[in-house]
Order: sequence, then C-alpha cells, then structure tokens
Amino acid sequence: MSIVLVTLGGTIAMGGVDAGRPGVVTRLTGADLTAAVPGLADLGTSLEVRDVQAVPSASLTYRQVLDVVDVASAAVAGGATGVVVTQGTDTLEETAYLADLVWPHAAPLVFTGAMRNPTLAGPDGPANLLAAVRVAAAAASRDLGTLVVMNDEVHAARWVRKTHSTSTATFASPNAGPVGHVIEGEVRVLTRPERRDPLPRVERDRLDGTRVALYPVTLDDDGLLLGGVADTHHGLVVAGFGVGHVPAGLAPLLGDLAGRMPVLLTSRSGAGSVLRQTYGAVGSETDLQRRGLLNGGLLDPHKGRVLLRMLLAAGLDGTALADAVARFR
Ligand code: ASP
Repeated sequence: MSIVLVTLGGTIAMGGVDAGRPGVVTRLTGADLTAAVPGLADLGTSLEVRDVQAVPSASLTYRQVLDVVDVASAAVAGGATGVVVTQGTDTLEETAYLADLVWPHAAPLVFTGAMRNPTLAGPDGPANLLAAVRVAAAAASRDLGTLVVMNDEVHAARWVRKTHSTSTATFASPNAGPVGHVIEGEVRVLTRPERRDPLPRVERDRLDGTRVALYPVTLDDDGLLLGGVADTHHGLVVAGFGVGHVPAGLAPLLGDLAGRMPVLLTSRSGAGSVLRQTYGAVGSETDLQRRGLLNGGLLDPHKGRVLLRMLLAAGLDGTALADAVARFR
C-alpha cells in the first residue's frame, strides 16, 4: 500500500511566524506534517511526500491544480494506491472540484487541510491528514473520484462546500451529505455517487486566457458592473436569488449578454437547485432561460464558474456546451 502526499501550503502548514510581523505563515513541509501525526507510521502505508507549493490557497491557480492532477496521475500510474493533497481550505471546494472534473482514475484523489493552525491548541491538521491517508488507502474509496476529507467526514468534491469561516466542521455537502465517515479509523462509505466521464485535457495557455466572471445579484441591483463584461470575459456565471431570479430590470441586460457569451444561471442560496418551470415573472427562471441563460441546476456559483471555464477552454460552445452543462449540473 503506497500513498503519495502532495503539499501546497495553507493553514495546515502554517506553523511559523515572521519576526516583526503579526500572523502565521507557511513553514511546515510534508515531512513536518507527517511527523506530527500520531499513529500514521503504524498504518503500514508507505508515504511518499512531494512538496509542490507553500502558499495560502487564495493564491493557487487552475494551472497549478492541473499540474497537481498530473503529479497524482503519474503516481497512480506508477502504482500508488491513492493520493492525498494538503492545501488551504479557502479555495478547496474549487480546487477539488476542478480536479474531480478531470480525474480519470479509480484510485482516490483526496484533498484535506486544517482550520486551526499548528500553533493553536487543538490543531485539526494531524487528525485530518491521518483520516485522509486512511481514506486514500481504503479499497472502499475506489471509484469515488476526488474526495474531501475533513473532520472525519468524507465528501464528494462535486458536492462539498466551505460553509463557515472558522469552524472545524466547515465542510459540508448541503445537497447530499457526506458520502462516508472515518469511524474508529475505519473508512465507511455510505453512498456512491455516479462517476462521470472526465473532461478532455485542456491546453494550459488557452485555460489561462479563458475568463469567466461571477456576478452575485443583490437587492435593488442595477447591473452597472456588468456593462462591459462581454468585452473582457468569455463567459458569465450569475448567482441569482433563490431558485434563479433577478430583478426585472436586469433580465434584458442578462439576455443581451447571453447573446454574446454563455451565461450560466445558479443560485446564491448555498443549497438547492435553480428551478426550470415554476415562476413566470420577468427576471424569473423561465424568463431568463427564454432569454438564453443556461440553467445551472444544483451547481453552486463557484463550481459553476470552474465548470464553465473548463468547458470554454476546451472549445465547447452552442449545443455542445449546453449539453455538457446539463450533464454536470
Ligand atoms: N487562508 C488559509 C488558506 O486557504 C485558510 C486555510 O488553510 O484554512 O490557505
């Protein structure tokens, strides 16, 4: 049994301070992280560490995440049972989802991190890392795609969200619940989401140049900020009210934009789906669909943005793009 551990930084590794400056900074390597985990050495799992980045996760890029997927893929092709990635939690729901969109293997790719840094009482990093390694090594985790393991819960990357800024129980899958748990060290998988075919490989330079904006709609919103968006971006994700609604005055503007680039309608609510056929007012989901917006279904705005950027970078448009969105929403 062999696991590859890829480290990217984040709170889990922020065990240092810079003289004269407040706040913790990334200091710990993968070797430091593993040395801090009681019981890890007793698992009988060989762990190979790759320190790839040492940054707050706010500074990660799609290119870096896809590079990590390549490292993980090579590890699996070389015989690794699974791969664990440690990173900051702030963007973890996006990075894990991005990885899941392209991860082709039966072997698990497991993301984890920490909410309490190593200088605090009760840091959660060691427990999360131990649980993540257990999940990456477990036969039950095969064919689940990319997973997020935090707080002894196993979440599918496609459903998980960061729901609290500081709680160690921040990661949740509001629409589905966790797919499993780690109980007394045993990985118990309770539900197995259907795998989807991975997206085709995208050319990195093309991905870098593909811009997708995310616009959260707010009360009394005049949409002024959206004015030039089609000149600078290739796609737009709208985080609408509730089931996918916007102020009536915004509907024609969004319709015009949908004539110039793909516009994906999602909900800013945090859980639940955009509807398709319930409301009929101007600015409602039926009206916006009639104006050409794509229905994002259960995709939350952040995942919708990841998906749309990847699809556009792969060169999809028109019906092919709409079909692809329908497969993933
Ligand atoms: N700001 C940190 C990061 O995402 C937070 C964390 O790791 O939880 O890198």
